[in-house]
Amino acid sequence: MKILSLNFLTCAVKACKSSSDSYPLHPKDAELVQDEIEVNAQLLVNLLPRLDWTALSTTATELGFPALPPQPPSAEDLQADDKTLRDLHNLLMETQIMEGKLVCGNCGHEYAVREGIANFLLPSHLV
Ligand SMILES: [Zn+2]
Repeated sequence: MKILSLNFLTCAVKACKSSSDSYPLHPKDAELVQDEIEVNAQLLVNLLPRLDWTALSTTATELGFPALPPQPPSAEDLQADDKTLRDLHNLLMETQIMEGKLVCGNCGHEYAVREGIANFLLPSHLV
């Protein structure tokens, strides 16, 4: 799963919906792979306003990426600054979690990631 997807995922446990601790999910024992994908600057520019930047910063740090700037770059910044563009592209598009877990900071539930797919099915007592 792409790091981008993590920005749109919350814990599936009902009681966690109202807790700010359930987002973002925290990667654990994550095995990362890098895919080479052609940079699409326009896609990133369109994507930026939809991202939760704080959550993305948390995820990047937890995965061992260099810290992101405190504010998301503007479209102009992104188009003028090739390094920032490439770094973001690499983090969001090219990096995948192949194996590991995603852990909810509220209930502690661990969602397994296998072969790049996160399993969001809950055991019956949590549904
Ligand atoms: Zn939870």
